[in-house]
Amino acid sequence: MLLLRGALIVDGSGAQGWPGDLLVSGERIAALGPRLQVDAAVPRRDCAGLVLAPGFIDAHSHDDAALITAPAMTPKLSQGVTSVVTGNCGISLMPLVTSDPPPPMNLLAREQFRHADFANWRAAVEAARPAVNAVGLVGHTALRLRCMNNLNRPATAAEREAMCALLDDAMAQGAAGLSSGTFYTPATAADSAELLALARVAAKHGGVYAVHLRNEMTEVLEAIREAADCAHEAGLPLIISHHKCAGRAQWGRSLQTLALIEKLTERQALGLDVYPYLAGSTVLRDDLADGFTPIRLTWSESHPELAGRWLADIARDWGVSEPKAVARLQPGGACYFQMHEDDVDRILTHPLAMIGSDGLPHDRFPHPRLWGAFPRVWAHYGRERGLLTLEQAVHKMTGLTAQRFGLRDRGALREGAAADLVLFDAARFGDCADYGEPCVPAVGLVAVWVNGELALDDGLPLARAGRVLTRQARAGS
Ligand code: ZN
Repeated sequence: MLLLRGALIVDGSGAQGWPGDLLVSGERIAALGPRLQVDAAVPRRDCAGLVLAPGFIDAHSHDDAALITAPAMTPKLSQGVTSVVTGNCGISLMPLVTSDPPPPMNLLAREQFRHADFANWRAAVEAARPAVNAVGLVGHTALRLRCMNNLNRPATAAEREAMCALLDDAMAQGAAGLSSGTFYTPATAADSAELLALARVAAKHGGVYAVHLRNEMTEVLEAIREAADCAHEAGLPLIISHHKCAGRAQWGRSLQTLALIEKLTERQALGLDVYPYLAGSTVLRDDLADGFTPIRLTWSESHPELAGRWLADIARDWGVSEPKAVARLQPGGACYFQMHEDDVDRILTHPLAMIGSDGLPHDRFPHPRLWGAFPRVWAHYGRERGLLTLEQAVHKMTGLTAQRFGLRDRGALREGAAADLVLFDAARFGDCADYGEPCVPAVGLVAVWVNGELALDDGLPLARAGRVLTRQARAGS
């Protein structure tokens, strides 16, 4: 048992924080109250002046392989993250076995595609003993690669059935739902019959459908409608991934997208995740090198030494156009400075928005969201700019996310809930990672507990007590 004494308790629901104590017993929260009477023999920790909140839940990660290859999960744990949702954007490590994953699958470690089903991936994750919990989505693109020889057309009826059978197995083994990324070439040709068939399988098991929209630029509204119609017809909750209005011509359009999303919530369950930055990051694409958007290289297999440099400088050095430079740098990835601050502010502060880092753990020179997204939400949007209260910021990183993914005993400080906890100094907690120096831990984080075990204390990594939260576990068994 452990008594945390005299913290400001911010419970993840959005409700006003209050000064009090919290008692941990085993993996669970045993009690909370203004002043708990506990046997003197119980170890205690003075938390005066600090905020105690549920551990943060990263609604949007690409940590499928990192959980296995880098189980300390330092970029996430050091932000106060205690659970990550993997398999986003159609990109999941399972159920795919290949030594040569094409883009965008190569955003994950390319040599790690060796898990034929969810159970196998889960066993590998748990054998690695990661520091944080994982919630796994199954990627549509992974299913396509597994079941189709020609990706330039919709799936045939037989291929659809094969994909549905694999998804059905994964859901039965505890996956949280389906993700798709029709923005990316291997999935672009998928039609509504294909996506609907899969969404129905996820729905049957009580899963969610997380979507990297087909288009986040000129056709963003149509893309939202497409995803929403599919989820509505299949009868499952939709999560719009890393919602943004990308590219100069789209700036200001979050007024329209959010209005549409609000309207859609009148007929269906719908949420969205967002990261607190003006730049996006993905694989290198020449169609994004529009001559206006500043682009910074995050990795390149052909020119690894150039990671971190601006594409414009590389193109100038080489005496070629930016799209030509992109072609020479392939395969690779980049940060694209494609959003307007007003849109990011509007989306991030919207009540439907939860926080997902979208961090890319295998990039050589990653987008700073990998190390900084969660502290930045509070530091930049709360403390510095007053756009969010502390309680709102915490809710977007905990309770709201748990609710969306059906994590019934996470994301909340209440009796009986899992003891995933974060203790931080609200006056100091903030991100230090930036585009120039992206792999820097947050400041002001005091301690983190995962499943009741002290995982991080004053920067020192301790227990690695994470596990895969399957549907059964998510229901609180
Ligand atoms: Zn995505």
